[in-house]
Amino acid sequence: MVHRCGYIAIVGRPNVGKSTLLNRMLGQKISITSRKPQTTRHRILGIKTTPEVQFVFTDTPGLHRGSRHLVNRIMNRAAAGALEEADVILMVTDCTRWTEEDDYVVDLLKSVRAQVVMALNKVDKVKDKDLLLPQIAAARDKHAFADIVPVSATTGLQLAELEQAIARYLPEAPPFFPEEQVTDRSERFLAAELIREKLMRHLGKEVPYSTTVEIESFEEEEGLTRVNAVIWVEREAQKAIVIGKDGRMLKRIGQEARVDMEHMLGTKVFLQTWVKVKEQWSDDERALRGFGYVE
Ligand code: GDP
Ligand code: MG
Repeated sequence: MVHRCGYIAIVGRPNVGKSTLLNRMLGQKISITSRKPQTTRHRILGIKTTPEVQFVFTDTPGLHRGSRHLVNRIMNRAAAGALEEADVILMVTDCTRWTEEDDYVVDLLKSVRAQVVMALNKVDKVKDKDLLLPQIAAARDKHAFADIVPVSATTGLQLAELEQAIARYLPEAPPFFPEEQVTDRSERFLAAELIREKLMRHLGKEVPYSTTVEIESFEEEEGLTRVNAVIWVEREAQKAIVIGKDGRMLKRIGQEARVDMEHMLGTKVFLQTWVKVKEQWSDDERALRGFGYVE
């Protein structure tokens, strides 16, 4: 029996469902999701092992055009690096909308050597599946995709077919990672991400992009994990928004993050959060290093 193993870079414009798709294929939440673009800031490995195949996915931050801020440039660098190293590229698109940003992604694919499989996502939103056929034809005109598979990341529809399509183009190789390993990131890192997810979901339009989360301590005791986290913002006014009236926003964010952490860790979690101001962390190389953006 041949064993296949390789790297799959997941690319696509923001909001098409890349992180949702990855979490669903892994059966575990390792990449945070929200309706807002730029939710994914870090490159995260997601590993799925079956008897015949080990898939090593990289969920990349969306590719951003004309990035002014250092944090965006670093995100682009991470995405470009993943494209060069990939054995297979999985381009995710939203079947309800093709945009110029999708064309921008297709343009980038022209210069890579790897085969590209396209996941036409969110087909649960389309009642009449015949409507997908012209879209598949249109996509074929734009690029020589190795395969195009209509899927739904939220319902799980056709994900087995998608995995088969990807596996076909992976090289013959032994597994790179132990079979029980699901990601290269620590629980401590994932805990910070879960808090950031709640910030992305609950804060208005601007503030979440000016926040980041740092785990100050992460202590595991018998059946209990104690987590102290700092939410960094850039201005006093943002601090007030994160805390909310009578502390209600921070309480809600903390409660929801705690529930997710308990799920992930399988222990009770005691979570304490503080909000602190550090001006312009998103343009400060040293601060970014501290927050895990620079490897
Ligand atoms: P990313 O920016 O490409 O990583 O997108 P996310 O995974 O964060 O998803 C963006 C939004 O699309 C979220 O609100 C998801 O719940 C939603 N979404 C993702 N996949 C599907 C899908 O298959 N069907 C539907 N209806 N919504 C989806
Ligand atoms: Mg994402």
